[in-house]
Amino acid sequence: MRRISALFTIVLALGLAAFPVQAAPKLVLLVVVDQMTADQLGRLAPGFKGAVKTFLDSGAVFTEAHHRHIPTVTAVGHAAVITGRMPGTHGIVANEWWDRASRKPVTAHHDSVFGIGPEQLLSYTLGDRLKARFPGSVVVAASLKEKAAVMLAGKKGDAALWLDESRGGFASSPYYGAPKPWLASFNENLRGPGGLLAGMKRERDFEKLWLSPDSHRLIEDLARRLLSEYRLGRDAQPDLLALSFSGADAVGHAYGPDSRESAENLRALDAALGRLLSSVLAVVPREDLVALFTSDHGVMPVPESRLGKGLGLHRVDPKKFSEQVENALQLIYPTPEGKLVEHLKIPHLYLNRSLIESRGFDWPILLKDAARSILSIEGVAEVYTAEKLGATEDIRVSSSPYAHAYRASFHPARSGDLLIRTKEDFLFSREETAHSTPYRHDTHVPLILWGAGIRSGTFPAPVRVTDAAPTLAALLGVELPPDNDSRVLTEALMGTAPQVP
Ligand SMILES: [Zn+2]
Repeated sequence: MRRISALFTIVLALGLAAFPVQAAPKLVLLVVVDQMTADQLGRLAPGFKGAVKTFLDSGAVFTEAHHRHIPTVTAVGHAAVITGRMPGTHGIVANEWWDRASRKPVTAHHDSVFGIGPEQLLSYTLGDRLKARFPGSVVVAASLKEKAAVMLAGKKGDAALWLDESRGGFASSPYYGAPKPWLASFNENLRGPGGLLAGMKRERDFEKLWLSPDSHRLIEDLARRLLSEYRLGRDAQPDLLALSFSGADAVGHAYGPDSRESAENLRALDAALGRLLSSVLAVVPREDLVALFTSDHGVMPVPESRLGKGLGLHRVDPKKFSEQVENALQLIYPTPEGKLVEHLKIPHLYLNRSLIESRGFDWPILLKDAARSILSIEGVAEVYTAEKLGATEDIRVSSSPYAHAYRASFHPARSGDLLIRTKEDFLFSREETAHSTPYRHDTHVPLILWGAGIRSGTFPAPVRVTDAAPTLAALLGVELPPDNDSRVLTEALMGTAPQVP
């Protein structure tokens, strides 16, 4: 059965790739809002006058698009958008995970040679496949966050740029080659009189910047510069301009998704993106341009807000939770000489393997016992053992609807020994609010395709955010077949039958 469905997938992907109803678009504009819920899009839609309005009015709008991986955080979300794959395949299991060999955390954007780069990303991206198919294609990415820029640029990107606060401007990594001369003058202008980074020195200055509409103007201005410096979209070799608007995440964490501040910030983003879209359309006509508008994750309502109280949300201090976990484990496997928990960042719990080994504890039994005892802590819904997640038999038959998400998000070398699923009405954070769970508030995000080859309409059937990359690949005639239950969104493509499987 599995073989038949895989074959069907390949036929579908190749069939679409070999269906040149028109020339491939010359430019893909890929926009990731860092933290935006589908609910925010729905509520704020009437007030949008910029690019988001354009996308909503004449794009293929998927109203039930979800991330299906764990945890729903920035690096994993960006990897999902650009690779169309799950963490078990692309390897980005968190923003930062525990490296068992060095017993230190490793970030998703860590590169052992260049400091920052895509070394941790284990699968090719849409941009990588684009460059493999069209040697003249240019792939550039920009964000305030290095992890977002690095994911979007992929392995073969021409440029990944992010805001380096210590240097007061946009920076890159030697991984992407020598710094371009234009970047120095661009940064000088930002710091000069009237520039968006003028007079900024202290950490507090940048904190304010992240919370202001200027964060979006920075990406807007940089994208416009990238458009001209790389002459994006001017020839038949399709280019990719991938942007991540990070400021929305800072505002969401600080004020919550239902706040006036968040609404204002997203309206500013819509306006900035609208001005940018006009600049793009001035050099790349709509018939040569395709856009994707989505988000890397949603966010939970603030538990103490009116909405949060109405929903009966609870808050747990993650530090206190870590202590509870250690205490629960010590009760059944007392080790006064050291802690059993080596690192804990939900969902990943890494146990102190050397201590456990030195005590001669039976590993599979200890894992099961630990899972059972953690389950008794308030706010915990389910605990998966690595052994279960890495097992060959399909745990989709498990009674939990989340088992498949945790299984597909599991990478044996990088994931924890135990993966914790918290309860839906619990926020494990000291921030005003946060995201990382497999629940609707974190998974349900905007997904709109717009432009060349895209059918206009509203599509209410559930889709995955990982469907977007293979769909754009099919449109571009690039080989990036769907994986892990994702699919080409044929209903959004002109020249294919508008059917929903
Ligand atoms: Zn994010």
